[in-house]
Amino acid sequence: MANSMNIDWENLPFGYVKTDYNVRCYYRDGKWGEIEVSSSEHIEMHMAASSLHYGQEAFEGLKAYRCKDGKIRIFRPEANAERLQSTCRGIMMPELSTEKFVEMCKKVIKLNERFIPPYGTGASLYLRPLLIGTGITVGVKPADEYLFVIFVTPVGPYFKGGFKANPYVITRKYDRSAPLGTGIYKVGGNYAASLRAHVEACHGGQYACEFYLDAKEKKYVDEAGAANFFGIKDGAYITPKSTSILPSITNKSLMQLAEDMGMKVERRPIDVDELSEFQEAGACGTAAVISPIERLDDPETGKSYVFGKEPGPWSTKLYHALRAIQLGEAEDVHHWNTVID
Ligand SMILES: *Cc1c(COP(=O)(O)O)cnc(C)c1O
Repeated sequence: MANSMNIDWENLPFGYVKTDYNVRCYYRDGKWGEIEVSSSEHIEMHMAASSLHYGQEAFEGLKAYRCKDGKIRIFRPEANAERLQSTCRGIMMPELSTEKFVEMCKKVIKLNERFIPPYGTGASLYLRPLLIGTGITVGVKPADEYLFVIFVTPVGPYFKGGFKANPYVITRKYDRSAPLGTGIYKVGGNYAASLRAHVEACHGGQYACEFYLDAKEKKYVDEAGAANFFGIKDGAYITPKSTSILPSITNKSLMQLAEDMGMKVERRPIDVDELSEFQEAGACGTAAVISPIERLDDPETGKSYVFGKEPGPWSTKLYHALRAIQLGEAEDVHHWNTVID
């Protein structure tokens, strides 16, 4: 079967490719059911479903890699399961166990094994778990029925011409999430709230992504549209502590690797003015691991924080260290990978 496919692994975009199967699990009558396998790309649901009207919806994103030794590894799926559980508590959805989440990840990967990009292509298999309220709600209340589905799609290397830096722009006109809102949860609503800022910032082609400050004071650094922020100052890895940013698993892993490299790691509020003291800065997340920030423009104040056209030494070192673990090239000392057998 694999030979009948004609995928150009090296030139895959970060987009959707139809695969063979997805896995599903329904929550009805107060409990989660059996895992089901589907070959349909569509979901049938009632038009009054809570996800459609009141945004009762959450998602996750993680990757599986074909490694150097031929084995398939998933990076930290338990951490995604735990984050989804936190999101469920945040928007009143039933939690799915870590065991079930990981079992479904493994199952959907095995079922679509022929879509896992070969080692050395820079591409990987992206897993997109989705949890939606399907129960009928006209009055505002949490639904009584839910669907959890995981689909996969092969995705290309984030950086086409290799690891490189991009300019970002601070948006003071719009907020993505409120200090006590849903910014800490991975919900579609945060993305709906960011789309206007995203389109205005990026679609001119000048910037890679919009960048948010804290909504209350517009004084502290929050994160980029879909990636956490870190800065490097005199060999220290500094990342924001904020109640309105998504706890990135990539960032958490980079903090650990930075510590392993003997760097000082600080998680604290970062005043925008402090950006001028950083020698390097990056956006981090599953898609790119690290997207080095060339400069951060603040059009409203006319300031520009410049970090350089080339990725800095610490960012480069951290990027390669994390990629090496994910690709099975370096020892997985923290037991982050789940090997598929
Ligand atoms: C998913 C996401 C990230 C990155 O999280 P990872 O677990 O590292 O992929 C960062 N910010 C936002 C807003 C996100 O939705």
